[in-house]
Amino acid sequence: MQTLSLLQIAPTLAEFFGVHLNSRASPVEQILQFAYSHKPVPSVMVLVVIDSFDYQFYTDFADELRWIHELVKLDGLLFECETVSRHTTPAIGSILTGLKPEAHGILTNDDVGKSKIKSILEILEDEGQKTAAAIETKGAEPLWGRIGYVFAVDDREDIFEYDRLIKRHTISVLKKQDLRLAFSHLRAIDRFAHRGWDLSAAAKVTDENIRAIANAVGERKGLLLICGDHEVHLKERKVKQASHKKAPATVPLIVGCP
Ligand SMILES: [Zn+2]
Repeated sequence: MQTLSLLQIAPTLAEFFGVHLNSRASPVEQILQFAYSHKPVPSVMVLVVIDSFDYQFYTDFADELRWIHELVKLDGLLFECETVSRHTTPAIGSILTGLKPEAHGILTNDDVGKSKIKSILEILEDEGQKTAAAIETKGAEPLWGRIGYVFAVDDREDIFEYDRLIKRHTISVLKKQDLRLAFSHLRAIDRFAHRGWDLSAAAKVTDENIRAIANAVGERKGLLLICGDHEVHLKERKVKQASHKKAPATVPLIVGCP
C-alpha cells in the first residue's frame, strides 16, 4: 500500500471539482480514477474526519469497526496517510487546505477564523458549488455566511450525543440537491482515549455513525471519504513509540461509493 499524506486530500477534492487550490501536494490519482469509474460519476462527496482514528486503531479495532472494514472490502480504497500534527485544529486545517500547519497558521482554537487561507469548502463555494460543514461551534463560527450549510454543534460531556448530532446533520444536508461537498468531524474516539475509557465502545458507536452516513451517501450515489486527523493519544503506546524512534504517525484514508 502506497503511503500518502493528509495534505493530498484537499488537492484531490479540488481536482475532482475543477477548482484551483494553492497546495504543493499532489492529488491522489487513484481516488480520481475511482470516482470517475462509477457511473453516474458522483456529484456529491462527503468527507468525515474521525478524531484520533489512526492506522493502528483501525487495525486493532477491526471487530468493532466491522462496517468500515466492510466498506473497504466490498468496493473501496484504503490508504495510509502520514499525519502533519499531533493536534486536531492544525490537522483539520491541513486536511481542508492541503497546506502544512506552519503555512495555514491555524494552530490553536484562537487562530480559527483568522487565517487568510481559504479551505476547500470556501473555495468551492466561491465557485458556486455548495458546501456544508457539521462541526463544533467554535470551528463553525468562521464559516457562517462563507459556505452554504453550516451546522454548529456545541461541545458537551455526552460525546455520543455530540456525534449523533453531527451524524444527523450530515445525513440531513445530503437531502440538498445542490450540495457538492460536506465535511463533518466525529469525536467520540478522541474523547474516550483522553479519558482512558473503553475504546471499543467508542469504536462501535463510530462505526454505526459511519454506516448511517454511508447509507445516506449511497442514496445520493455520492462518494464517501473517511480519515483520521492524528495519532490517538494513549499512555501505553507512548512508551512503545519512545523506544523505536519516530516514524511519522499514519492514519487511514478510506474511499468508497457505498
Ligand atoms: Zn483530533
